[in-house]
Amino acid sequence: MLRAGIVGLPNVGKSTLFNALTKSHKAETANYPFCTIAPNVGVVEVPDPRLGRLAELSRSRRVIPAAIELVDIAGLVAGASQGEGLGNQFLAHIREVDAIIHLVRCFTGPEVHHVAGSVDPVRDIEVIHTELALADLATLDRQREKKQRGNGHGDPRTPVLQGCIEKARAILDRGMPLFSERWTQEEKALLRAFQLLTMKPTLYACNVAEEALCQGAKNPLVEAVVRFLEDRSDSALVILSSQLEAELPTLLPEERESYLQVLGVSESGVTSLIQATYRLLGLRTFFTSGEKETRAWTIRAGDRAPQAAGVIHSDFERGFIAAECASFGEMERLGSFARLREAGRLRVEGKDYVVEDGDVIEFRFNV
Ligand code: GDP
Repeated sequence: MLRAGIVGLPNVGKSTLFNALTKSHKAETANYPFCTIAPNVGVVEVPDPRLGRLAELSRSRRVIPAAIELVDIAGLVAGASQGEGLGNQFLAHIREVDAIIHLVRCFTGPEVHHVAGSVDPVRDIEVIHTELALADLATLDRQREKKQRGNGHGDPRTPVLQGCIEKARAILDRGMPLFSERWTQEEKALLRAFQLLTMKPTLYACNVAEEALCQGAKNPLVEAVVRFLEDRSDSALVILSSQLEAELPTLLPEERESYLQVLGVSESGVTSLIQATYRLLGLRTFFTSGEKETRAWTIRAGDRAPQAAGVIHSDFERGFIAAECASFGEMERLGSFARLREAGRLRVEGKDYVVEDGDVIEFRFNV
C-alpha cells in the first residue's frame, strides 16, 4: 500500500491531524492484508461518494473503500540534515514514503509555542525545504564521488547518470525542490535508487484556526503560502484545521453539521486532503459491485485491464480474458450490469485497455 508522510516543523499540528485522521477515517485493516502496523502509521479510508451510490444500486451487504497509509513524521527541525535533533532518523523516515504532506502552521495562538518564536508559514516552508535539499545534496555528492572513484566504470548508463546528478545539484542550488522540474522517464528511473527527498510529490496543507476556515485562501497567512508556491512549483494546496478535525469525532453527527455551519464551511478539509493525497500518489480507483460487496480498488494511473485484475487476485491477471466495464456515470444512469448490457452500453475491453478512474468492472478470466 502506498504511503504519505506528514512532515512539518514541531508544533504545527502534525500529531493532532494524524490522530484525528486515523480515528475519523480509520480503515478496517483486515481488508488490506499488506498494510503496515506501527504506532506512527495509520491506514485511512479514501472518501468517495461514488461508492455509497454503487452499493445502493447493487444492494451490497458491505462497502470497502480504497485506503492509503499515513505516517506521522515528527521532529524535523532546522539542522536536521546535520544530525540536529534526531535529524538523520527523521530524514530516513521521509525516504520511505511515496509522497509528502507538508503541514504548515497558519494559525496564530500565543498559547502554542513556535520553535522560531513567531508564525511565518513561508519561512517555515523554507526551513524544511532547506533541510530536505541539504540532505539531497549530500546524497548526490556521495554518488558523484562514487562515480569519480570509478565505480560503475564501463556501465553505459554512467554518463547519463552523471548528467542527472549535475542537473539535480543545479536545481537544488537554485533553491528549488527536484519535484518542480520535468524529468524524462530514464532520468527518473536512474534517480529513483537514491530516494531523493525533494523528488517526492508534495502537497502543502495549511493548518488554519477553526474560525479562519471560512476565509479559505483569503487568509493572509494562506495567501502568503499560495504566492510563495506559485513562483516555485505548481504544487497542490489544501486548507484545513487540525484542531477542528480533533473535535469533530467527539461530536454527535447532527452536532457536526451545525458546528460546520457555524464555522461557515460545508466540510472540514480533510476529505480534500485525503483525496488530493491519493491523486498525488498517482493512484486511481476502479470499482467492483455486487450484492456481496461494493469495493474500490486502487491502481496506478495508466494501468491496463490485466494489471487492474491482478490487484484483486494474481490468478485474475494470469487468466485475464476481458474486462466488462462501464463508467460510473453510465452505471448510475442505468443501474445494473444487466441493464447496461441490454442497452448495449457495456463495453468489453481487452488486455491493452487503460483503466479509467471510476470504471465499474467485471473481469472474465480462465482459472
Ligand atoms: P506537532 O508537533 O506538529 O505534531 O504538533 P501537535 O499536533 O502536537 O500540536 C502542537 C500543539 O498545537 C498542541 O498543543 C495542539 O493542541 C496545538 N494545535 C494543533 N493544531 C492547532 C490549531 O489548528 N489551532 C490551535 N490553536 N492549536 C493547535
